[in-house]
Amino acid sequence: MVVGIDTELASLAIDNDPVNQPDQPVFEVKEISGKGKGLIARCDILQGARILCEKPLLIAHPMPLFSLEQHLAARLKELSKESQRQFLTLHNNFPGKFPFSHTFKSNALPCGPGSSTGGVYPTICRINHSCIPNSHNNWDSKSGQETIYAIKPIKTGEEITIPYNNGGTREVRQASLKQSFDFDCGCPGCSRSPSAIRESDVRRKMIQKLDDAIGDPSRMQGRPADSLKDCQSLLEVLEEEFDGFAGVLVARLYYDAFQISIAHGDQARASAFARRSYESRVICEGEDSPETQRMKLLALKPATHSSAGAFSQKWKTAITMVPKDLGGAAFQEWLWQRVSQHSCTLSDTDEDSNSSDEEADY
Ligand SMILES: [Zn+2]
Repeated sequence: MVVGIDTELASLAIDNDPVNQPDQPVFEVKEISGKGKGLIARCDILQGARILCEKPLLIAHPMPLFSLEQHLAARLKELSKESQRQFLTLHNNFPGKFPFSHTFKSNALPCGPGSSTGGVYPTICRINHSCIPNSHNNWDSKSGQETIYAIKPIKTGEEITIPYNNGGTREVRQASLKQSFDFDCGCPGCSRSPSAIRESDVRRKMIQKLDDAIGDPSRMQGRPADSLKDCQSLLEVLEEEFDGFAGVLVARLYYDAFQISIAHGDQARASAFARRSYESRVICEGEDSPETQRMKLLALKPATHSSAGAFSQKWKTAITMVPKDLGGAAFQEWLWQRVSQHSCTLSDTDEDSNSSDEEADY
């Protein structure tokens, strides 16, 4: 049994060999007009390549500024001279009182999604923001490091960028970046023509709306085909807004689709969705990140998830029912079949959708 799983794990990984880049850094730290320092690609960087990983110089939990200043001063004393220099030369958006705290707050990245613990890094904290980023930053809890992966091909001379916030319309993004980091974003997403910005804002609002709807557990329970339809719609909007490189947003969306499927007993599609989430995670975080490994295991054993069959068994399938002989479009059609059979769109009324999820065998 164990041998069987290992073989399957190996076969899953074959399509996703780590992307190898030269041993020397693929970037250089340079002054960038109007932005201070930033990272510039020294060579073409492949999608899925690891750009760098670093351990934090300092980490801290939320606390009042006075306490934070004392905490950081004490930790700073314990660092080497070189590490102290690296921290003290980071940008401080709010110079004046509490210099350590404000330098920390200007640069800290959360140690994991939603974590209130922040960390600062010698090089990673030089990476500037873009609302259409080409890279993804991730806290790897296993190795205790922050990693940066290219989520799209990056050309020589192009700046390496990550997102500092959670998106929203241009106006929302600009206000949040100004308040937290005191800069006006001039990224490609914010510098579009007025009409392109209006179209982008519509997509950003739709992304938020779909995301909220997908996260509604009562909808997932009572109208799962509609929730899946929202996943499919979200995928389309993300692809359009991020030119086909939506990175971890796609990994999360496929995991949502996995959860909807497995909660109604559809092991076959749950496995296929988990595999897609795994493939997206490999690009964003590498093969060895804990979340990538979790998706890989769920692709192989979807029924081990805590919500397996939690809502119903009305979509019951065995994992062996994942079609092996279907190509791109046909597989795609099979994958989203629950949507075409049952769902209505987010804009449809509740009355229209009451009978949308009838019992059926597949
Ligand atoms: Zn921007």
